[in-house]
Amino acid sequence: MAQVQETGDLAVVIGLEVHVQLETETKIFCGCSTESAEEPNTHTCPVCLGLPGALPVVNEGAVEAAVKVAKALDGTIPETTEFHRKNYYYPDLPKNFQITQYDSPICQDAELDCAVEGERRTVGIERAHLEEDPGSLKHQGGSIDTAEYTLVDYNRAGMPLMEIVTKPDFRGADEVRAFLAKLEEVLEYLGVFDASRDGSLRIDANLSVVDSEEVGEDGAIDDAVLADANRTEVKNISSHKGAEKALAYEAQRQKNAIQRGRVVEQETRHWDEARGITVSMRSKEEEKDYRYFREADLPPLQVADWKEQIEIPELPDARRERFQSEYGLSEEAADKLTSTKQVADFYEDVAETFDPDLAATWVADELLGELNYRDMVITDVEDRFDEIERLVELVAEDKITTKNARETVLRSMLDDGLDPDTIVEEEGLGKTSGDEIADAVAAAIDENPDAVEDVHNGEDGALNFLVGQVMQKTGGSADPGDVNQLLRDELG
Ligand code: ADP
Ligand code: ZN
Ligand code: MG
Repeated sequence: MAQVQETGDLAVVIGLEVHVQLETETKIFCGCSTESAEEPNTHTCPVCLGLPGALPVVNEGAVEAAVKVAKALDGTIPETTEFHRKNYYYPDLPKNFQITQYDSPICQDAELDCAVEGERRTVGIERAHLEEDPGSLKHQGGSIDTAEYTLVDYNRAGMPLMEIVTKPDFRGADEVRAFLAKLEEVLEYLGVFDASRDGSLRIDANLSVVDSEEVGEDGAIDDAVLADANRTEVKNISSHKGAEKALAYEAQRQKNAIQRGRVVEQETRHWDEARGITVSMRSKEEEKDYRYFREADLPPLQVADWKEQIEIPELPDARRERFQSEYGLSEEAADKLTSTKQVADFYEDVAETFDPDLAATWVADELLGELNYRDMVITDVEDRFDEIERLVELVAEDKITTKNARETVLRSMLDDGLDPDTIVEEEGLGKTSGDEIADAVAAAIDENPDAVEDVHNGEDGALNFLVGQVMQKTGGSADPGDVNQLLRDELG
């Protein structure tokens, strides 16, 4: 294969194969639970252990989730989709083949828009298919190439995965980061994915290096050049951060090789997270190595009707735009408020009852800010949405000052688990009623004739002193601006 010879500028080309664990109750071809298990090899049965004679049955929930993903990625869903056996021998694969999809994947020719430094980029998606996860290997006393021995846990075997294969459309790690974040956002909106689950998103990254002169202004590279470039496939990347580090390492390794006149071998490499390097595993398998053939134990799936019947929720981009037009929010506020579906749903709940701007301030700035500070997320307070709405109500109805609501009530709600009314009561934060304030104003004027005279002589300091007196009498629960105005009115 052609290699870049010169030591001039080199450009990086990346394509991803992203494995997403779909959220279903049971595994893709058996009834075993997908809940995380305490003990290894407990969520297993003859099907996912590959025992002789056991037959797979497709989990409808997994197909439904895949159809949702296909629709969200604007992909083509074929009339009929089929399953295939991908044959290989490895300890994590008890049947010695993986059930996957070969030439009729459930999602074809899709795409996903993401923003890279404010610029819109469309990443092409070749295909996305359903498959079963293999078991997991636990290397003991070292990493994959140094471990003393390895244990295998089949709890993961048969978990439903969707493998999303992008076109080689990435020109740098920043684009990969933006894409992965957007992909997670969309999957989360669809309700088919749980980012907090360990290993729910795993990435194999294909990377090659080409002469920068081959890269057009819009980032386009000729297909022949792409096909010709020797690339490596880096496996075992399990986080966004990991992806960035692995890609940076691998890009530099290939550039170094080329600049020293060496050839980049077409191979599979393993990302060693602990050591921060990629290590060679094997020469890259080719399609023919897998001897794909139809999985005759599973009939072809007619998915055309599903496509019509299954609805997907409004997706983040559309919702962001609607938040701006419908509620008059800034782009920044709309961005924050659509960061997850739950945040967006909660915002809309609050904005239905209260002023949308007030709702935006309380959800986007106050609530998310305080949660973030505590390393919490919206789901941590989902049982307390009523209480948070009550807090917004107290502010909207002017029962407490914004300052008290923000600095005392919300924080104490999160730190002490109390409800807003209890906190207001215990801390005596209720805004004093008009009468009480009027009484306090009258008393302050009565008790401080000298200050009153100074005010009449135009001394601002004296007015401030009186404001202070009123504040003291009302236990700080009056609004200083209101008090100031009342005193001015009283004193002419
Ligand atoms: P294979 O048959 O080797 O699996 P595919 O065409 O299926 O190859 O592509 C696998 C992955 O490799 C895709 O994510 C694709 O975007 C990526 N890819 C293809 N060409 C390149 C390249 N020149 N550099 C980096 N990644 C590439
Ligand atoms: Zn099972
Ligand atoms: Mg491939």
